[in-house]
Amino acid sequence: MPAKILDGKAIADNILKKLKKKLKYCRENSERFPKLVVIQVGEDPASTIYVNKKHKACKEIGIDSEIKKFPETISYPDFLKEIGNLNKDNSVNGILVQLPLPEHLNHKQVFETIAVEKDVDGFHPFNHGKNLLGKKGIQSATPKGIMTLLESTGVNFEGKNAVVVGRSNIVGKPITLMLINEGCTVTVCNSKTKNLKSFTKEADILVVAAGKCNLITEDMVKKGAIVIDVGMNRNGNGQLCGDVDFENVKKVASWITPVPKGVGPMTIASLMENTIEACKQQGNCTCSV
Ligand code: NAP
Repeated sequence: MPAKILDGKAIADNILKKLKKKLKYCRENSERFPKLVVIQVGEDPASTIYVNKKHKACKEIGIDSEIKKFPETISYPDFLKEIGNLNKDNSVNGILVQLPLPEHLNHKQVFETIAVEKDVDGFHPFNHGKNLLGKKGIQSATPKGIMTLLESTGVNFEGKNAVVVGRSNIVGKPITLMLINEGCTVTVCNSKTKNLKSFTKEADILVVAAGKCNLITEDMVKKGAIVIDVGMNRNGNGQLCGDVDFENVKKVASWITPVPKGVGPMTIASLMENTIEACKQQGNCTCSV
């Protein structure tokens, strides 16, 4: 039997619908509601698409949203100063810096500059630390969305072998910690891993965030595995492709995410949840969102 499709778009739409309802009540009964500022540096077309999607989602559900664009030539001190101003601005609850940033802006340092309580992407070392300890807090948006997708399958995490392909700070490492915290036995692979297939083949839950078109083929997947494809890549023809050979892997998996309409919409839904949570934590939302 072919895999069931883990429809991230449908699950995300459902989350957004619920948030919209709550925010409507908030707007009618409170003077303060959440505001997100998304920062874009330069004119990278993919970044523009992602920034606009986030802005649109905010507008649709009732979060105030602003896009701040800076030229690629902005100096590092000026950029940090802009973030500092947003940190101090009480009308702003969430700050998101769209990646990639030009090299001279040192994205790791930038993440540490964003106020912890406004870090709605969950990339500040403090928020990563909370995730490490399994404490409640703002969780990285993409891994949080992946966990929601996995939960929707009804899987019992305890005792499952999970394999994560990729060890980035924004996807691979945080999802690894979340899976560990849920009781999975987790193996993390990277570009130096020898015989990747020997690991992926053992996975009951396989999360792939390598950024390589069709890296995972049917023969690398255990029968009945849940497969989450985080990849958003362009192939040689400029077409969007994931890290998993969807058409063939779906023949062996029990659940699989498509690309697009899998993890991508869940990242946005989690970002909206995080912005509302940030607003609540800052004591700015007086309604019961
Ligand atoms: P990244 O920072 O480039 O990290 C990629 C990771 O994959 C690295 O740890 C790398 O290993 C590993 N890797 C690369 N080739 C490999 C191979 N052949 N075998 C095993 N591991 C390999 O990428 P990222 O930011 O985590 O993103 C990964 C993918 O997810 C990209 O396609 C990105 O566009 C997508 N993404 C999607 C969303 C969404 O919302 N849908 C959000 C974030 C990212 P090394 O560490 O050894 O180099």
